[in-house]
Amino acid sequence: MTEVAVRIKIEGLVQGVGFRPFVYKLARRHALRGNVENNNNGVTVMAEGSQDAINQFVMDIRYDAPPASEITFINIEKETMKGFPDFSICKSHSYSDEITEVSPDIAVCNACLADMKSQPHRLDYPFTNCTHCGPRFSIIKDIPYDRHKTTMQPFEMCEVCRLEYTEVTNRRFHAQPVACNHCGPEYLLHFPDGKTVRSFESVLLRVASLLDGGGIVALKGLGGFHLVCNALNEKSVHMLRLKKNREGKPLAVMFSNMDAVNEYLNSVPEEEQLLLSWRRPIVLLTRKKPLPFSVSNGLNTVGAMLPYMPFHYQLFEKLHTSALILTSGNLSDEPVLINNEEALKKFGKLTDAVLTYNREIYNRVDDSVVMVVNKKERVVRRSRGYVPASVSISQNAEGIFAAGAELINSFAVGKGNKVILSQYIGDLKNPETLEFYSESFQRFGHLFRFKPTLVAVDFHPDYYSTKFALEMGLPVEFVSHHHAHIASCMAENNLDEKVIGVSFDGTGLGPDGKIWGGEVLVCDFLDFERPFHFEYVQQPGGDAVIRQPWRMAVSYLYHYFGAAFLKRNHQKWFSYIDTNTFDKVLLMLKNGINCPETSSAGRLFDAVAALSGICSRTSFHAEAPMRLESAADNYTLEGYPFVIHRDYVSFKPVFEGLLQDFENKMPLSIIAGKFHQTMVEVIASVVEKIALTTGLKKVVLSGGSFQNKILLGKAERLLQQKGYEVYSHKRVPSNDGGIALGQLAVAARRRVFKRNNNFKN
Ligand code: ZN
Ligand code: ZN
Ligand code: FE
Repeated sequence: MTEVAVRIKIEGLVQGVGFRPFVYKLARRHALRGNVENNNNGVTVMAEGSQDAINQFVMDIRYDAPPASEITFINIEKETMKGFPDFSICKSHSYSDEITEVSPDIAVCNACLADMKSQPHRLDYPFTNCTHCGPRFSIIKDIPYDRHKTTMQPFEMCEVCRLEYTEVTNRRFHAQPVACNHCGPEYLLHFPDGKTVRSFESVLLRVASLLDGGGIVALKGLGGFHLVCNALNEKSVHMLRLKKNREGKPLAVMFSNMDAVNEYLNSVPEEEQLLLSWRRPIVLLTRKKPLPFSVSNGLNTVGAMLPYMPFHYQLFEKLHTSALILTSGNLSDEPVLINNEEALKKFGKLTDAVLTYNREIYNRVDDSVVMVVNKKERVVRRSRGYVPASVSISQNAEGIFAAGAELINSFAVGKGNKVILSQYIGDLKNPETLEFYSESFQRFGHLFRFKPTLVAVDFHPDYYSTKFALEMGLPVEFVSHHHAHIASCMAENNLDEKVIGVSFDGTGLGPDGKIWGGEVLVCDFLDFERPFHFEYVQQPGGDAVIRQPWRMAVSYLYHYFGAAFLKRNHQKWFSYIDTNTFDKVLLMLKNGINCPETSSAGRLFDAVAALSGICSRTSFHAEAPMRLESAADNYTLEGYPFVIHRDYVSFKPVFEGLLQDFENKMPLSIIAGKFHQTMVEVIASVVEKIALTTGLKKVVLSGGSFQNKILLGKAERLLQQKGYEVYSHKRVPSNDGGIALGQLAVAARRRVFKRNNNFKN
């Protein structure tokens, strides 16, 4: 039988996930000769054997690849026969400055959990991992991904581990964080009086009894510390909120297993799949059976996750409760703590115990948050398990640094045609978060051999991210906030043409100096027009409305019905605001003092939430829209009327309808449902108008408001029914956490355009 030789190039997430040993075993099974090696762009396989065997081999590579790997590209070329004697794994090649994908952190696998019950040197060992699981991004300092370039470096492998590490057929072949009871990291439990416990058996029992007894413990996790307590104990959860200074934000719950999730929450198969995926994100689910009020403070959704570190499993084995609060270990808005000393300093007295371990967390990663809308995963906060996977775009992104926005920031760097988004950084408004931002930028630069030559920033001159990037003194592309939102969604969906873009958001400075956020654009990567926007209203007190959405309700009523109407109805709609304050706001509106104009969709949601009495004051970002969504009946098919003028949408009839429905004592769930339906119909009507004049059929939905499940779900379905191709976010957040991708894509396109047209940047 004639034999053939081929070279197979595989790109994607194929390093640090057990890919080479997988290929090795597969090649052996198909009696092929040749080798496999890691290189700059992925993995290259040389294979010699019968054509049939090679075909089968390639098929198996595609369909049996390790769970945490992701193949984005396979190319097969004919080669000249070299006559390899057998199949082997080559040593990692020296790396050039081309991108190498770094694996995100992976939840502990079932085989490792089994090893912890059977392997003598790994009995109950809480840092057990293998080529398919364990820490990755959180411990890597440099590439290539080798143990001495991770925070495992101080731990010398024992004989047994070394054998496993070097044996090609072993599950731990080249598993860089490989460790066991004899040679790996270990936990240490600290009590407020300074006493410590090292014996792991006692550590587990003490932590379990503290938590079951209502205590609060700080636990060092994979990407940072968590503050933990029994989620079924209202008193503990309430106490944890007080200690953390976190008034309202919902807290994430880790359940012992899927049965426990099902007892308290509703889930569809796609949600269950996400809960169980190796990325182990927090999945937003709706309540079935009541949990203590303080868990989500009256919202109907709960962020649920399943154990992902060996310690989580071991802890639940000892606990009576089946649900724990696992919220990021930080005080109010600071980044999650990763350092042992700092955690002891901040939590040592605040909690009943602090559990540390002696392996350093190098790259901080929060738990990721996702939800399912129309059966698809939607990432809300992109961090552990997702970062630093790259997004491929159609243009050359090399050397572009996109600084991101101000809130829920994430930045991005361009390498080749790949964009690497940073982990969730947070709100750039305290010194700790600013430091996290600049430190992560340095680390990304080093890890991905990234040297910026062009920066892409938001229009807003006061954003810290904008200032940070401008200080580099490099050529700059200013990208309008909402153009960046739509471009982000286009880039994620590989669209590169003119589209209709619907950007609904809280804020974002427009080129006219007003606060945009209810915008319908026609755009491509290069530029945009704005055929329609929400009617401008005043935002009395500027940023003050964010904490006091009632001000937006007053502003809308003032805008549509005037001051006299408001004076007459002060007690009826705003009895909770004293006359003095109320009059002051009216005066501001009348004189236009400290009242920037806004077309923000988020502010409209604020106004309706406040007017409904659902949320007049807030204690966390986007609380009013979240509460309005939570209250809404998803099945309401009736909306309020609205008017589309030449280039803007007026909501006067909406407010007339709302006031009428309040008079008639219509249930709030129906009113909120009708308002959501209205927003969906606004989108459909405006899109239809644009489609008629432009012939465009592709509609892109982006902006923070599309984290609203009802809005996104209904808008997508309605537009599809009307025959549009609808594109929305999946792996990249629709909120400002995804905006850097859009900034980068716009800058990449403009760079080419300017080069072709001999512009000077
Ligand atoms: Zn494993
Ligand atoms: Zn060992
Ligand atoms: Fe935004």
